[in-house]
Amino acid sequence: MTSPAYDSNNIFAKILKGEIPSYRVYEDEHTVAFMDVMPQSPGHTLVLPKSPSRNILDADPAALQHAITVVQKIAVAVQEAFDADGVYIAQFNEPSAGQTVFHLHFHVIPRLEGVALKP
Ligand code: ADP
Repeated sequence: MTSPAYDSNNIFAKILKGEIPSYRVYEDEHTVAFMDVMPQSPGHTLVLPKSPSRNILDADPAALQHAITVVQKIAVAVQEAFDADGVYIAQFNEPSAGQTVFHLHFHVIPRLEGVALKP
C-alpha cells in the first residue's frame, strides 16, 4: 500500500511557514524544534525536518539523518532542563500507527520515574 502524498496545508507546514505560532526552542538550516501544545509531560518537544515529508516512509534520508542528530541534542537538553530520569522518543507513521499531523516529526518526552504520561 502506498501512502498519500504530502499535503502542504498540514498544521506543522503552517507553523514552519510562520502562519501559526509555536514556541520554538531550536532552529537550524534543516530542522526546527518547538514545544508540543498538548504535552504528555512537561518539556514535551517536537523535532521536525523543514523539508516536506509526510512521515518516515517518504522522508529524504539526509534530512532524516540531520533530524535524528537534533533529536539527540533536544533529548539531552530536556533531560537536563526538566531534571528527567529518562527521555521517551516516539515517531508515528500513518493514522493506523497513531499519526495525526502529517509532517514528519519526532516526539521528545522527558520521563520521571513512577510518573505516568498524560494521555
Ligand atoms: P499523536 O497526536 O497521536 O501524538 P502525532 O505523532 O501526529 O500523533 O503528533 C501530533 C502532535 O502534535 C500531538 O502531540 C499534538 O499535541 C501536537 N500538536 C498539534 N497541534 C500543535 C500545535 N499547533 N503546536 C504544537 N503542537 C501541536
